[in-house]
Amino acid sequence: MHILVINCGSSSLKYQLIKMSTEQALAKGVCERIAMENSVINHTKGEGGSTSIERDLPDHAAALRAVIDLLLDAEHGVISAVSEISAVGHRVVHGGEKFSASSVIDDEVLSAIKDCVVIAPLHNPPNITGIEACMELMPDTPNVAVFDTAFHQTMPPHAFVLPLPYEFYDKHRIRKYGFHGTSHSYVATHAAALLGRPVEELKLVTCHLGNGSSICAVDGGKSVETSMGYTPLDGLMMGTRSGSVDPAVVLYIMDTLGMGTACVSDLLNKQSGMLGITGVSSDFRDITAAADAGDKRAQLGLDMFTYQVRKFIGQYAAAMGGIDAVVFTAGIGENVSVVRKMVTDGLGFMGIAIDDEKNKLRGEERDISADGAAVRTLVIPTNEELAIARDTLALVK
Ligand code: ADP
Repeated sequence: MHILVINCGSSSLKYQLIKMSTEQALAKGVCERIAMENSVINHTKGEGGSTSIERDLPDHAAALRAVIDLLLDAEHGVISAVSEISAVGHRVVHGGEKFSASSVIDDEVLSAIKDCVVIAPLHNPPNITGIEACMELMPDTPNVAVFDTAFHQTMPPHAFVLPLPYEFYDKHRIRKYGFHGTSHSYVATHAAALLGRPVEELKLVTCHLGNGSSICAVDGGKSVETSMGYTPLDGLMMGTRSGSVDPAVVLYIMDTLGMGTACVSDLLNKQSGMLGITGVSSDFRDITAAADAGDKRAQLGLDMFTYQVRKFIGQYAAAMGGIDAVVFTAGIGENVSVVRKMVTDGLGFMGIAIDDEKNKLRGEERDISADGAAVRTLVIPTNEELAIARDTLALVK
C-alpha cells in the first residue's frame, strides 16, 4: 500500500510517496514557485540525488498533475498506475477546536477546514487548494487531513485561554492553539521507545527547532503546553519570526513609526528573529560560521535563541511538576551540536547534562546524556511525512 503525503504552502507543494509495508519514501520532492515565473520541481527517486525539472506550474492543481506524471514517468517514476496510490494524507495547518485528531476528508470535514480560514488566513487556503486538487484529479482516492494543531487540543483551559476579556475566546475563538503537533507527537512516541518506557509515564519537553521553532510539554503522551499560540508567530524567536514580543511594541511601531498592518506583519514574520538580530542569515549554518569568525551579532543571536529555549525547558518542567527527558528535533535540533550544548549548559541543577562526545552527532537518533544524568537528553529526527502517512493508513484501512 502506498500513501501520497502532500504539504501545500502558498507557492509550494511538497510531496512524498511512502510504501507503508517498509515505511520507505519511494519518491519525494517539492514544486516551487507555483503561479510564478521559473517554476521548478526538485524531485528525488528513492535514495538517488535530487533532479531539478523545469515545468510551467500556473496553480496547485497543475503542480499536482505534474507530480503524478513524474510518479508515473518511465525515468523518474516509481509506480505504473495512479490506482497504486491508496490514499492521500494532507498536512493541514489549522484545525481550530473542531479537530483533536486526523480525519478522513468528506464534504463536512472540508467545510470545517474552510471555517478555520478566518483564524489561519495564510496557511489553510493553500492546504484547501491541495485537497481540492486531489479530489478532482483522483476522485476515487480517499483523502485524510492531519492537523498541526490537533495534538495540542489536550491543553487545559488555564494553558490555552489568553488573558484578554473572556468574550474574545468565547465569541472569536482567540486562544492558544499551538502548531508542529505532528512532530511533537512523533518524537514523543519515539523518545518513549528509546527510553524503553511507556509514554504514559513520561514527562517530556520536546524542542522542535527548525526555520519555525516550538517547544511542547508532553505529559503522559499528551500536550499540556506549547510555545506557539494563536498563530505560529508566538513563542520562541525563529529564523525570521520574532516570537513573543511585548504587544505594546507593535502598537508603538504602528502609531509612532507609522507602519501599517502589512508592513508590521512582514517585519515580525520575515525580517525578525535570527535574521533580524544577526543581519547575517536565518540559517544556523551561516550564523554559527559567522559567530566562530568573531561576528558579535551572530553570537548575540545564538545567545538569545539558546537562552530562550533554556527558559522554556525550565518553565515546562515547572508546568508539569517534573521532567524525565528533553528531546531535540528538526533541522537545528538534529544537526547543530553547539545549540544543544548552549541550551543544556546551566541546567545541571535540574539533572540535565550532556556528554560532549555523544553530542557530536548529526541527524541520528541517540541519547546524548552524560552518564548518571537524572534527566535524559535525546536527539530524535522528526519525520512529519511518515507520521501523516501512518495516520492516513490507520484511517483508511
Ligand atoms: P523547516 O521549519 O523549514 O522544516 P527545518 O526543520 O528543515 O526547517 O530546519 C531548517 C534549519 O535547520 C535551517 O535554517 C538551518 O538553520 C538548520 N540546519 C539544517 N541542517 C543543518 C546542518 N546540517 N547544520 C546546521 N544547521 C542545519
